[in-house]
Formats: sequence, C-alpha cells, structure tokens
Amino acid sequence: MNFHPVDFYEIDSLLSDEERLIRNTVREFVSAEVIPRIRGAYRAGEFPADLVPAFGELGLLGGTLSGYDCPGLNAVAYGLLNQELERGDSGVRSFVSVQSSLVMYPIHTFGSEQQKSKWLPLLAKGEAIGCFGLTEADFGSNPGGMRTRAEKKSDGWLLTGNKMWITNGTLADIAVIWARTAEGVQGFLVEKETSGFTAKGIHGKLSLRASDTAELILDNCLIPDENRLPEATGLKKALMCLSQARFGIAWGAIGAAMACYDEVVEYTKGRVQFDDKPIASHQLVQEKLAFMLTEITKAQLLAFRLAKLKEQGRITNAQISLAKRNNVLQALEIARLARQLLGANGILDDYQSMRHMCNLETVLTYEGTHDIHTLILGHEITGLPAYS
Ligand SMILES: Cc1cc2nc3c(=O)[nH]c(=O)nc-3n(C[C@H](O)[C@H](O)[C@H](O)COP(=O)(O)OP(=O)(O)OC[C@H]3O[C@@H](n4cnc5c(N)ncnc54)[C@H](O)[C@@H]3O)c2cc1C
Repeated sequence: MNFHPVDFYEIDSLLSDEERLIRNTVREFVSAEVIPRIRGAYRAGEFPADLVPAFGELGLLGGTLSGYDCPGLNAVAYGLLNQELERGDSGVRSFVSVQSSLVMYPIHTFGSEQQKSKWLPLLAKGEAIGCFGLTEADFGSNPGGMRTRAEKKSDGWLLTGNKMWITNGTLADIAVIWARTAEGVQGFLVEKETSGFTAKGIHGKLSLRASDTAELILDNCLIPDENRLPEATGLKKALMCLSQARFGIAWGAIGAAMACYDEVVEYTKGRVQFDDKPIASHQLVQEKLAFMLTEITKAQLLAFRLAKLKEQGRITNAQISLAKRNNVLQALEIARLARQLLGANGILDDYQSMRHMCNLETVLTYEGTHDIHTLILGHEITGLPAYS
C-alpha cells in the first residue's frame, strides 16, 4: 500500500532540501525494508537485527552527534528520521533511539578520548550494538533509588546489581550501566564478555514485540577504571541522555500516528455498510478522522518548533516533556480510534493500527511515563515538585 503522509499545514515547505532528502530516504527505506517484514518479526517477537548494517550505511545511528563517523544531523533531520522509522514500527525506532541517544550520546558527551575513538565509529556503522541500563525492577519512575552499586577496587570497579527492561539488552556488545558509588550515581561501560555479566531476554510482551528487551545481571563484574565514563557523575547525567531520547520519541510518535491515519482513511473510504455507502460518509466516522488529522498536525507543529529550539540551544527539559507527553498520548488515541474504525479486521495483523496501538502503550510508559511528564510540567508551572 502506498503511504500518504500528512502535511496539512505545509510543514514540508519549511524543511531544507537536505532535511527533505534525509526524510525521503528513510521513508523509502522503511517502505522497502521494514514494513514488508515487520509483521513476521512482530509475530516472532524478534527485533529484525539484520537491518542494523543498513541503519549504519544510511547514517541513522548517532543522530546529531559529530565526529567519530557520526552523522552530525541537525535536530529537524534527526526528528524526521525518528518519525519515519516509527511509521514502520516503534521497536525499530527504539533500537535507533537507544543506540544514538542513550549509548552514543553518553560516550560522546561524558566519555574519554579512548572510549570515544574505540566505540563511536563501531556504533555509528552498526558494527557494534549498545544498550542503556538505568531502570531496575523496583526503581522505574524513581531511578535515584537504584540498588546497583559500583565499588572502587585497586584493579578497577566491582559492579553488582540487576537492570530491568533494557532495550537491545541481549544484542548489545556494550552496556552503559548506571550504578551507585561513594561519589553518587556514575556511568560505566560494561562489555558483553565481562565475567559475571548476563543478559536474559524478557518474553511474553504484548507490546514492542519487534524489539529486544532484557534483564541485565551484574554479578560481581570487575571492570577496569578506563571503562568508567569520566564525566558521568550524578543522576542528572543519566537524565540528560533521556532528554535526547525523549526528543526523538516526540517525533517518532507522529510516524506511528500517520501510519494509522493513512490506513484508516483508505479503509473507511472502501468499506461499505448500510445502503451501499462507505463508512467514511458517516458523521461519526468523519469526526474521528478530523480528530486524527488535527492531532497529527498539532503534534507536527510542536515537534518542529521543539527541534528549532534544540538547534538554537534553547530547548528545556520541560518543553521536551510537553511534546513527549502530548504526542505519544495523541498517537495512542489515534491508533485506538483507527483500530475501532477497522472493525473486526482491525484485530488482525494484516493491518498495522493495532500493532502501533500496542507499541504505543510502551512508548507511553518508557522514557518517563505519561504521568511523570505531567508532574514535570506541574513542577515547571508551580515551582512545587509533586513526585513523592
Ligand atoms: C519495552 C520497554 C523497554 C524499555 N527500555 C528501557 C531501556 O532501554 N533502559 C532503561 O533503563 N529502561 C527501559 N525501560 C523502562 C522504563 O523506562 C520504565 O518502565 C519506566 O520508567 C516506568 O517505570 P516502571 O515500569 O517501574 O513503572 P513505575 O515507576 O512502577 O510506575 C507505575 C505507574 O505509577 C505511576 N507513578 C509512579 N510514580 C508516581 C508518582 N510519583 N506520582 C504519580 N504516579 C506515579 C507511573 O506513572 C505509572 O503509571 C523500558 C520499558 C519497557 C516497557
């Protein structure tokens, strides 16, 4: 099926030729390589890992980072590539978000020269895969409570603890692990061969099935001091990584919403019930379509402006929270409505909307739940934190 993107407010005319080229390249890649096989990957509950070298060749890994073979995109181009990837599947976009924002970004920003030159070119080409371990089974929204600890020893650092819900966990060559130390939370690079390190796949997911999710077990892992990220002391440094990822998610959710909208506009124009009329001719159906178009357009405008603020170095965490919170919730609502309009057919994986809907339940939860972003905004508005 041909994809008809939404551009109701002519945002395309605001893009540079280069941004448009990147967007179109990723769009074609997703149509040719992701969409034809995503149903199989989703059924199998597997991330289509053989796409990774192509991500590297297309320059999709590393986003806005420069040097060390990173693509050095501007914020709009980085946003657009997230949007296009998530049109295919949130799990595919999650891979790229984690690799770029949660692994390459902390190495680039907080790493030593040796860590940067060793890992960034490999990660940018897709020749190495990374994951980011912050969440623990008992500490999700409140990662500051983490129990994973790192103790300084004469020959390095001894890491002990468990991380939960880690995207790319079983595939990763390198894990960015956040652990409590005598000096506060710090970031470490744990290589997959490290003795005592295990990644166990989490199965039975009804959401983000085409993504690798794992528990990481660190059982007295001794790592050399050169694997500590030298500038990553303090939980704030971990949260800086999340801000990068949340920016991409605010864009990505638009792609999922556009896929659902496109599917359901076509479907409702072709589906006939009562008096030989297509269901798209009924007011209740049109009301849903009008809602979808409105919310996609609003989300596009938010994301575009957010990218401009990022490019000007004026972006704030609260602005990112507003866009992540809004765009993901509206994309989820659009996917739910699209599923309804597809009727019984909508529960089949011949159609995409229910897959997007299920995926977006994860996207609503990870990188700060919807309600945690509400509290971040409440804090911003009132100056009064309401987290505990
Ligand atoms: C598929 C998937 C992939 C993930 N990938 C990663 C990854 O790569 N790396 C990583 O580190 N983590 C990852 N996560 C973890 C994710 O970030 C956490 O699930 C998320 O932060 C929420 O934590 P939790 O699941 O423990 O929920 P909880 O924190 O237990 O929250 C449960 C509910 O309580 C609400 N709640 C919590 N505290 C408050 C409060 N103070 N006030 C009001 N409501 C509150 C929440 O909003 C939520 O609705 C992933 C999660 C999933 C599902």
